[in-house]
Amino acid sequence: MKNAKKIFKSLGLDKKVLQGGDLPVYSPIDGAEIARVKKHTAEEAQQMAAHAVDAFKVWRSVPAPRRGELVRIFGNILRDNKDALGALVTLECGKILQEGLGEVQEMIDICDFAVGLSRQLYGLTITSERPEHKMREIWQPIGPVGIISAFNFPVAVWSWNAALALVCGDSVVWKPSEKTPLTALACQKLFEQACEEFGDDAPEYLSQVMIGERDIGEIMVDDTAYPLISATGSTAMGRAVGPRVAQRFGKTILELGGNNAIIIASSADLDLAFQGVLFGAVGTCGQRCTTTRRIFVHESIYDQFVVRLKGAYENLSIGNPLEERTLVGPLIDEQAYLAMEDALNRANMDGGQVTGGGRALADKYPKGFYVKPAIVEMPGGSNVQEETFAPILYVFKYTVLVDAIKRQNSVPQGLSSAIFTKDIQEAEIFTSEAGSDCGIANVNIGTSGAEIGGAFGGEKETGGGRESGSDSWKAYMRRMTSTVNYGNALPLAQGIKFGEED
Ligand code: NAD
Repeated sequence: MKNAKKIFKSLGLDKKVLQGGDLPVYSPIDGAEIARVKKHTAEEAQQMAAHAVDAFKVWRSVPAPRRGELVRIFGNILRDNKDALGALVTLECGKILQEGLGEVQEMIDICDFAVGLSRQLYGLTITSERPEHKMREIWQPIGPVGIISAFNFPVAVWSWNAALALVCGDSVVWKPSEKTPLTALACQKLFEQACEEFGDDAPEYLSQVMIGERDIGEIMVDDTAYPLISATGSTAMGRAVGPRVAQRFGKTILELGGNNAIIIASSADLDLAFQGVLFGAVGTCGQRCTTTRRIFVHESIYDQFVVRLKGAYENLSIGNPLEERTLVGPLIDEQAYLAMEDALNRANMDGGQVTGGGRALADKYPKGFYVKPAIVEMPGGSNVQEETFAPILYVFKYTVLVDAIKRQNSVPQGLSSAIFTKDIQEAEIFTSEAGSDCGIANVNIGTSGAEIGGAFGGEKETGGGRESGSDSWKAYMRRMTSTVNYGNALPLAQGIKFGEED
């Protein structure tokens, strides 16, 4: 591909990195092999963990605001390389260029957030029941953090974890998806540039990239060198990783699959709802964890809304994601395409009416898997329980809001949800304790496209973890309670007397 060489060069990915390895990397744009990178062996993975422990022991004692300075420099390097890294994201995972650039912007935003945070890693002071005692909570760096990431956000998810972990005083080891190792290797190069500019306070091996498939991920997961494993991917992956880490009493942040829904009430601003659904359902070719997979439309506006949506689906520009006019790029690979076909066949058999679907541009890109996004009108009372990582939008009709909320919640996943309504009562019910059971519940905004300032994550089979904003940083530190006695006696808590004379 003619752009690829330019992008690699600009990010310092040379022949040494790109050739001679045992892990082929394909661009979903045309299915061509664009590199062959070297996988790490089990021994190398163990060595990396040992290096991460050494780096941690140095980094934890660097004052947090100084640690923030490194993240500030890294954020600026990302600014300088936004175009090239955004294009590499597009080349390697197939999302359109605007979204590739948006992903790098998200990295920059979390760096800014983390720089501020580096001066705000605060604990509580708590009144003591004993005279002349003070009690406080101190947050300490936790140790090396193992980060496992998915193909669909090949750089942003790592940066959410890494920027916070680094200011918290932790070292990081990143196992990216085997489908997107190049973006990880490019980020590592940019991070090394930042360390060089930062100076000696940054120890060697502060951030490392571990290349490989599931087996190398398992080695990381089982290694006690990592007190925290932050894993993003499918629920199946989380189901395997969670118990393994728990077995050794490690901690996890699990960011897993979603099955996100939007409720469109009768009072909704239909223009807003239309835009929210369209971006949520077809953006990133349906390959976001927060993709809108289901909509519940009030019966009074159902026909009008669905006709408009179908019209828009007919005119979507599907094509090469590097081209400016494209709105829908390819699926990641053939397996994803087959999963979409399978889901549409099943929906058909369950009485769903399918509009769209099927392969697009197969003549032009025989090895690229472009698809027509699909709308499936589902029969009354039905629901869809699984996440198919493809642009399929299941449409349901509802009459009463509480019923729509109940159906929205009646799935195993609990990541993102939204309601479009102008009725304050409906909006408040939706975000009440009896409303959405998801980690994200939006009003008049779609399910995808979160800001880094808010904690990100979901409930139930989505894993329960929180990354990014708010106080998510606490997961990257360990909590220490410290009571100081500045008196001359040693009173025991709860008034206990122990061997004292009267
Ligand atoms: P995946 O589960 O196939 O792979 C994710 C990562 O886990 C990869 O790096 C993979 O090598 C690794 N892995 C898989 N099994 C493992 C194991 N047993 N031990 C250790 N590592 C293992 O997911 P994917 O296809 O790359 O990504 C799509 C999925 O990710 C979707 O389900 C999507 O919803 C989810 N996702 C969730 C979020 C979120 O924040 N909730 C964000 C992005 C993607």
